[in-house]
Amino acid sequence: MEFQDHLGWGLLFCLLSGSFSLVGAVLLFKARFNLVGYTWVVGFSSGALVYTALAVLLIEAQAGLIGFLGENPGRWAAGLGFFLGLFSMVLLDRLVPSGQNPHQARNLTDPMSFTPTRRQGIFMVLSMGGHSFPEGIALLVSTLFDPWLGLALAIALGLHNLAEGATLSRPLQAATGSSDQTLVLIGLTGLAEVIGAVLAYFLLIHYLHASVLGFMLALSSGFLVFVAFDSLLSASQLPQNRRIMLYATLSGFAAFGIIQFF
Ligand SMILES: [Zn+2]
Repeated sequence: MEFQDHLGWGLLFCLLSGSFSLVGAVLLFKARFNLVGYTWVVGFSSGALVYTALAVLLIEAQAGLIGFLGENPGRWAAGLGFFLGLFSMVLLDRLVPSGQNPHQARNLTDPMSFTPTRRQGIFMVLSMGGHSFPEGIALLVSTLFDPWLGLALAIALGLHNLAEGATLSRPLQAATGSSDQTLVLIGLTGLAEVIGAVLAYFLLIHYLHASVLGFMLALSSGFLVFVAFDSLLSASQLPQNRRIMLYATLSGFAAFGIIQFF
């Protein structure tokens, strides 16, 4: 198969979407925090991720696996991959101590009210890096399957990272006492997306059969659904933005539903 031909695109997309966390951090340093804009970015990207995960990745995974394994085993394999993806994200989430998940935006309305210790700061970076890792795997696998799907996902994940970078920047600045250090650390978490992609590629390269790719698509679908709901539910705890969040999420569904026709 010609999956390998798309490797370059996959890595480029990971680098691009990962670098958006840096853009988010710089934006929050330069401009005042805009709750409505932030809500739109989180809602839209989460809607786009959920739509892509369930209506594209999982469906393609199912079709591919049914083609190899037959009707029932194919469906089971796709379902198994999806729940394995979800479950491994729950495990990853539980493994990171301190509860300072990058998807938790509570401190944004008054970022200075939360001043983490250096140690907490390190855990926040590790947690965000940990989340970026499976995001990179999902983006690479999708691009190997279809570069246009990869591009769409890179945009959705880029917006997701933009919000994450913005969430982390003020508390990290308070923890490190330095804007430069904060930007380097947030840049590193973006790089975790590329590292996830490279590792996934080298693990997969010998087994890069279409059936393995199908299972990986199902797994990625689970990763993305977790990540999207995690950031959506955390950000909807911010005041006065539940209705905007709903509209933003539905817009994400609609926009990514429409681009599937092109
Ligand atoms: Zn994330």
